[in-house]
Amino acid sequence: MRMLFLSPHTDDIELGSGGTLVKFLKEKNEILVAVFSTCEDAVPKGMPRDTLKKEFVKSMRQAGVKNYKIFNFSNKNFPKQRQEILDRMTEIMKEYNPELVIGPSLNETHQDHKTIAEEMVRCFKKTASIISYEQPWNNLKFNPKLFVSLEEEDINKKIKMLKNYKTQFILQRIYFTEDFLRALAIVRGVQSGNKYAEAFEVVRWRI
Ligand SMILES: [Zn+2]
Repeated sequence: MRMLFLSPHTDDIELGSGGTLVKFLKEKNEILVAVFSTCEDAVPKGMPRDTLKKEFVKSMRQAGVKNYKIFNFSNKNFPKQRQEILDRMTEIMKEYNPELVIGPSLNETHQDHKTIAEEMVRCFKKTASIISYEQPWNNLKFNPKLFVSLEEEDINKKIKMLKNYKTQFILQRIYFTEDFLRALAIVRGVQSGNKYAEAFEVVRWRI
């Protein structure tokens, strides 16, 4: 299947669906990852502005993702840039025509994530199935309907990918810790009869 993973900022795609990305790659699906901001203004003091971009590229290489696009929309200002964001998505739709699109939830509180979710639905609602990954620290509510079972090696690889983001460990983000990532995968696994899983909302399913 042709799949498109949408990441508002570097790291969102790994946090929300890194295990699923690894699993779908292993299953030889066609994968394109698009990230919309490298957050040059959000790197810890004293670090080069392209640090997050480099961390993202390392993470993609580690997972074996060869096909990715990096846009540089201004961090925290996505609502003002929504038409340009839609235009980039429309270009991807015309060139790549994904059958499945994976992006943030419409129940996001982060303005950039919410914008990507809304434009994703606007762009792909008539051409692709659409599912949303969870980010509990940002989701006001989350309605898990689709569970992707993960093997031990998938969750280990997700954790490894996220370890490339040294900037986020400096900022002591709890949701980057191995404990949190494993615990959430276990919760979703318990719900779905698996050891580990990632959960998704189903926005649109086309057969
Ligand atoms: Zn983000």
